[in-house]
Amino acid sequence: MMDPRWQSLLHEVRAAHALPALSSFAALPEDLPFRAVSPYLSPGAAGMCSDPGLAAGRFAGFHDALIAAAPLALWRETYKNSGASAEFLDRFACYEVIGRDAPFACEALRGFVIYFPAGLHYPWHHHPAEELYLILAGEAEFAVEGETPRVLRGNDTMYHASNVPHAMTTHDQPVMAYVLWRGDMTTKPVWTDPDALP
Ligand code: ZN
Repeated sequence: MMDPRWQSLLHEVRAAHALPALSSFAALPEDLPFRAVSPYLSPGAAGMCSDPGLAAGRFAGFHDALIAAAPLALWRETYKNSGASAEFLDRFACYEVIGRDAPFACEALRGFVIYFPAGLHYPWHHHPAEELYLILAGEAEFAVEGETPRVLRGNDTMYHASNVPHAMTTHDQPVMAYVLWRGDMTTKPVWTDPDALP
């Protein structure tokens, strides 16, 4: 029996995937078999669930469903033991919604929620998966190698090509985003060697 909080979240995920920017990135399969995960809250999870800066907007329902399901989720610590700063590890938050090991099983793509509080820098990193960010709430400055950094807000999307280094910074606002991966989804992100950047 699926917890109704997961049910609500799946409804919101399907609604978001109906947006052209998402549906053109990857089709969401009809069948997303559910299996409960062992809940685990990372240090940053509480921050996302109580941040007043994630003002309700177009994605208020998605935002609320992600927070409602938070106690049931397996929050990820992707960058543990990666050399990330203690501040980053304490404040960054992420859990997987759809994917091979996620509550909604999917082989074709992975979908995560990520959260950064105000005033946090996500250093330059890259990964073979192609990636699409959909900003749900708040705002952040996105930097991609070879491009002028730009600030994205609710409903904006950002595409990252395979292995192209990118970075993100929150200033006076936090950010919550829904992030999709396609392609090589098993290779973890790595920090980009600063000497490799222009
Ligand atoms: Zn990325």
